[in-house]
Amino acid sequence: MIIAEDIDVVRNHIKSWKADGEKIGFVPTMGNLHKGHISLISSLKQAGATKIIASIFVNPTQFSIGEDYTEYPRTFDSDQKKLRKHSIDLLFSPSTEVMYPKNILSELTIKYPEYNNILCGEHRPSHFSGVLCVVNKLFNIINPDIAVFGQKDYQQFILIKGMVRDLCMPIEMFCAPIVRESDGLALSSRNQYLSKQERLIAPKLYESLKEAKISIDNKLKIVDIENNAIDFLSKNNFLVDYFSVRRSKDLKKVDSNQSFNKSIIILTAVKIGRTRLIDNILIS
Ligand code: AMP
Repeated sequence: MIIAEDIDVVRNHIKSWKADGEKIGFVPTMGNLHKGHISLISSLKQAGATKIIASIFVNPTQFSIGEDYTEYPRTFDSDQKKLRKHSIDLLFSPSTEVMYPKNILSELTIKYPEYNNILCGEHRPSHFSGVLCVVNKLFNIINPDIAVFGQKDYQQFILIKGMVRDLCMPIEMFCAPIVRESDGLALSSRNQYLSKQERLIAPKLYESLKEAKISIDNKLKIVDIENNAIDFLSKNNFLVDYFSVRRSKDLKKVDSNQSFNKSIIILTAVKIGRTRLIDNILIS
């Protein structure tokens, strides 16, 4: 596995692989890799990628003020060992100076008005413009044929897919299913912030989504489903940012009359102690 910190080194390798007819698959991460990240690598191989590129970069611009940028777990040594085991061809791990050579505040910002300020965007004001900015840079550096993102961050996937479409980027986009612990908690680097007590109740987040899915199957009113879930989570000491039933293709709200023959997604974000958790469930 090649480990590259510089843009030119990455470009040279990719250029020669492309000249040999290789199909470049890309999985961007912030490191601290777990089985969820590793599953994305398998998805890329299944999608036909013949060279797999991963990146590890804790992107400062996607953390809002007061969030966990400085304490975010950085575990490069064990990450690169995991990637080697899974036959990654190139790991791009740039410094902040490589990705943001100018003052971050004077960077170009990318916004998606329809999506930036809803759901997670409403609660993390600068988050998605930071995500779009860094993914755009990474796409320009790596020039992938295929990119994969996790359903775990579904709003992020929809935004990036929209950016790829609207900016005419020739990249096939894939969304990989959520990998969970045996008790249902979605794997996340942030789970390690949970205290023992918080870890015990955290799986109730997925329980609330499964319960809401059953209520949708039983054609309960959407507003009641959302309110029941918020009550359930609040009673279990979660501070609920949102619990919302949306159309999966564009995250628009659905009402009870139109929901039942559409492909929908139930999304939620909560805080438990100092940890913010997100999760969702798709219903086709
Ligand atoms: P992150 O390192 O948290 O930025 O995540 C990098 C990629 O891994 C994103 O596309 C995430 O959606 C995806 N991911 C994170 N957690 C999971 C999970 N539990 N299952 C599947 N994919 C995940």
